[in-house]
Amino acid sequence: MAFTLPDLPYSHAALEPHIDARTMEIHHGKHHAAYVANANKALEGTPLAGVSDPWEVCRRLREVPDDRRTAARNNAGGHANHSLFWQTIAPAGKGGGGTPGGALGDAIASAFGSFEGFREKFAAAATTRFGSGWAWLCVEKGGKLSVCSTANQDNPAMRDAIGDAAGCGGTPILGLDVWEHAYYLHYQNRRPDYIAAWWNVVNWAKVGESYVKAL
Ligand code: MN
Repeated sequence: MAFTLPDLPYSHAALEPHIDARTMEIHHGKHHAAYVANANKALEGTPLAGVSDPWEVCRRLREVPDDRRTAARNNAGGHANHSLFWQTIAPAGKGGGGTPGGALGDAIASAFGSFEGFREKFAAAATTRFGSGWAWLCVEKGGKLSVCSTANQDNPAMRDAIGDAAGCGGTPILGLDVWEHAYYLHYQNRRPDYIAAWWNVVNWAKVGESYVKAL
């Protein structure tokens, strides 16, 4: 089996009060685990069965046989998206929250006018995504930063196979899960409150590393 569920780099309760322990337990231990298991099943016996990086599967989705491609899109996508999601959050005040510095801070200010301008654009993408999906900050070809959103477990790395449904394309360096399973236990229907709280746990150092790597 190529994919395995990565451990969380913090305890289930470490992100409280912004993201509650029970949500983390179910989100990681049940939802993400199911994407891993179903992605392995979808890719079994295909040319991509040995690939251990789910982002590579997203980029090479066209190589998955037709009868497995939707399952691979949903589940390798789910595995990739959640793996990034856990890495780009951290306990508030212990790696989480604050503002981006360094090259990423400069690039955000240049692309969006200011950090506040970026936050507004990103929050709007997350808030207005109808139904389930994700909001993204991506590094496009040429190094340009973009904000977009995708439905379900699609992501910008899938552009070759799914076209405009992949949002802005490029390399996602920050993703926000706006599926109800990510917030409903604590926030019920108040998605904007969840989005507002999530800024307190964004791990900008990690996002900054991904930015430099993506360039
Ligand atoms: Mn999720």
